[in-house]
Amino acid sequence: MRQILAISIFLLSYNLSLAQETLEIDTTIVPTDTIAISTDTTSLTKDTTLSILFIGDVMGHGTQINAAFDDNTGKYNYDSCFKYISPVISQADIAIANLEVTLAGWPYKGYPQFSSPDALAISLKNAGVDILATANNHSLDRRKKGLERTIDMLDSLAIPHTGTFKNAEERKKAYPMMIEKNGFKIALLNYTYATNGIPVSKPNIVNMINKEAIAKDLKAAKAKDPDHIIVFMHWGAEYQLKPNKYEISFNQFCKDNGADIVIGAHPHVIQKMELTHQNTYSSLTAYSLGNFVSNQRTSPRDGGAMIQINFKKFGGESTIVDAGYYLTWVYKPLIKGARKFRVLPLSQYEDDEAFLGETALKKMTVYKKIARKLFDAENINVPEYIYDSESKAWEMEK
Ligand SMILES: [Zn+2]
Repeated sequence: MRQILAISIFLLSYNLSLAQETLEIDTTIVPTDTIAISTDTTSLTKDTTLSILFIGDVMGHGTQINAAFDDNTGKYNYDSCFKYISPVISQADIAIANLEVTLAGWPYKGYPQFSSPDALAISLKNAGVDILATANNHSLDRRKKGLERTIDMLDSLAIPHTGTFKNAEERKKAYPMMIEKNGFKIALLNYTYATNGIPVSKPNIVNMINKEAIAKDLKAAKAKDPDHIIVFMHWGAEYQLKPNKYEISFNQFCKDNGADIVIGAHPHVIQKMELTHQNTYSSLTAYSLGNFVSNQRTSPRDGGAMIQINFKKFGGESTIVDAGYYLTWVYKPLIKGARKFRVLPLSQYEDDEAFLGETALKKMTVYKKIARKLFDAENINVPEYIYDSESKAWEMEK
């Protein structure tokens, strides 16, 4: 007995010293990279920050699929497509993109009814994309199989996703999506205006933009007591640089019903971004982020914008500190006789003729001028992130 007691005391003191050590280490621990998605209601009272980056439409045209094929391995791989933009995506705590293709398996297809290789999702994840929105006009391109295989594939790759569901039961379990990170709790909702006339097969669900459903979902989101509610919309008129009445009215509807952030995509071109503060309440809308990657080459369809929203939490209250955009442009170099795709952080390469060559630089400059002219004239409190080549850091324009 005495021996057991001695061992117990020894173990107890050993545990205590371990606990002490752990406590000491604890103060230097940085937040993990894991995105916990749950309905847990933990809240922190210390001063913390969070950055969320939204990325526009990830398209999958036939030329992109061909370009992703690696002759050496006989496999598809999009890593090099995102290698220049990956450092920008990775520095955000959470990066969210619109996956505008299905992962329906072989045969792979480009426009008009997309099915991309699974490698696209793998490379997006490798590039730092944490979450994919799947409700868009191409969700049903490969019908039921496409919708369900996309969900299964993203699940198997451990990429959280929202917007489309196999059935009502799965939607109920996982919607609105709750994101927990750095002590923040964010609700994410995702809807599309239509599915290109293809009806959804029962019991599958594609979240459609309609007031009744959105009001109900926003109510459910509010009940989970998040710090912020974000609605990611797939909407608007293609190739229009100004939001239309539909976008403006649904933006207002979301705001009136509890969302403080609305992000849009689909027009294939960019549209204005507005951040307003009233007392302690902030409201942000980015009407369209444009194409993130596509084979649409007519300017300004050949570029897009990512918006980074920076949050701060103090005393349990979270606020939007500021938001800025990164311009992106799709560069198509000829490498060993084959056309490749490279998404570039524009500000980092805008003067780099040695890297781009004269023709590509000219094309990128056309996009740059249109994008900056629009955002300079129409954005409210959302400046550009500019790359400082000396410090090799991104700084928000003053
Ligand atoms: Zn679309």
